Amino acid sequence: MDAADVESDLVNILFTEEQIQGKLKELAQEIEADYAGKDVLIVGILRGAVMVMADLARALNRHVEMDWMAVTSYGSGTKSSGVVRILKDLDTDITNRHVIVVDEIIDTGLTLSWLISNLASRNPASLEICTLLRKPEAQQMDVGVKYVGWDIPNEFVVGYGLDYQERYRNLRDIGTLAPHVYS
Ligand code: 5GP
Ligand code: MG
Ligand code: MG
Repeated sequence: MDAADVESDLVNILFTEEQIQGKLKELAQEIEADYAGKDVLIVGILRGAVMVMADLARALNRHVEMDWMAVTSYGSGTKSSGVVRILKDLDTDITNRHVIVVDEIIDTGLTLSWLISNLASRNPASLEICTLLRKPEAQQMDVGVKYVGWDIPNEFVVGYGLDYQERYRNLRDIGTLAPHVYS
């Protein structure tokens, strides 16, 4: 399977590379304004947020520290259960730090709301969430998301860090998969 085949598995491109970079620039400018004069630590949630972290960090015209967490949600099927286990914790002590958690997509929000209460118990100076995409169900969750790229319909999307069975993360665009991929 070569790269051309991979791109052609996308039937519907929701967001192109250019649109994604433009949106991240907007979010970066909001963050620059909101955190002027403060030290910021951005925390990427592995593995999906790798692309967003890399491009958001480079869109930020200021100093920023980067750290990572990996979590797994015990889920049945495709939905997360909200019961979370930490696979890789932060290397950074976030006590009194300004922390922004960066994610690529929030679906039910269960994983993230668990993560936020875990991080909040470590007494950061502030704690906010930045996500590139958000699905409708996420709006029912009780944690506020300060920075959102786009709200999208309840469809399964891939690309730009988002996988289907660990593939498609390396696509530059975000889109939906052709039905033949699933069969
Ligand atoms: P939740 O917000 O439901 O706890 O889980 C969010 C996680 O589910 C995301 O980090 C992502 O790994 C996965 N996920 C949710 N919606 C999608 C989607 O449309 N496409 C892909 N590839 N993963 C998704
Ligand atoms: Mg994620
Ligand atoms: Mg996945």
